[in-house]
Amino acid sequence: MADRKKKKEPQRKPFNVDMAEERIQRLFELAEKAYLQKPDLADRYVDIARRISMRHRVGIPGDLKKKVCKKCGSYLVPGENCRVRLDGSRILITCLKCGAVKRYPYK
Ligand SMILES: [Zn+2]
Repeated sequence: MADRKKKKEPQRKPFNVDMAEERIQRLFELAEKAYLQKPDLADRYVDIARRISMRHRVGIPGDLKKKVCKKCGSYLVPGENCRVRLDGSRILITCLKCGAVKRYPYK
């Protein structure tokens, strides 16, 4: 019954990309502050940041990406809800909520 055709979306302008990146940065700053008092709220901010990045097709900067669990979307704080270990030339970040492990080359 529903009309399958979707409305044509207007072409994204670079301006929106700048805005999206700025908002993502800002949301991570908020998440960092919120985590201390309300970890759930930090997860919410991160979730919003991820949505923005998907909608506007901009990536989340590498250093911020490391702070989010890819599996459960938690905002990761070393020593709090994630474990950071060195394995040879790699960094292993284990999410203590869902157990997912992230690996990064260590320099
Ligand atoms: Zn997780």
